[in-house]
Amino acid sequence: MECVFCKIVAGEMPSHKIYEDDKVVAFLDINPVNPGHTLIAPKVHYDNVLDTPDDILQHMIVVIKKITPAILKGVGSESCNIEINNGAIAGQIIMHNHWHIMPRFKDDGHRLLFEGEPYKEGEAEKIAGKIKENIT
Ligand code: AMP
Ligand code: ZN
Repeated sequence: MECVFCKIVAGEMPSHKIYEDDKVVAFLDINPVNPGHTLIAPKVHYDNVLDTPDDILQHMIVVIKKITPAILKGVGSESCNIEINNGAIAGQIIMHNHWHIMPRFKDDGHRLLFEGEPYKEGEAEKIAGKIKENIT
């Protein structure tokens, strides 16, 4: 078994688990953006969000809602980024689906938002149309 997170699930690699049930495990990120930075992952290996069954995805967000207040309280934070890097170009390094819960602190030096740029005239309609025709 090569996957690092499968090894964590199996207890073959050390981790600081903060929550576990029959479907998911949550543990501290080894290289935290801020203290308390937590990852939640399904126990069964799925590469990313798009190949993970709906019931597991639903459970992941329910568990995030359950554990996030405890994470924030534990490190004295009142805000967090809940983030998914989906696919290599989007920054996914570990190809076992996982979501980040990152506590934030005022002036912690991390970015707040991606930088955006308005659509050109007519472009938004065209792109929305192309997306809509592919929703199945
Ligand atoms: P991503 O870019 O979304 O794939 O992020 C992978 C995350 O996994 C990074 O934030 C790493 O610091 C974290 N990570 C890698 N190996 C471990 C490990 N053994 N235990 C805990 N976190 C890890
Ligand atoms: Zn895995």
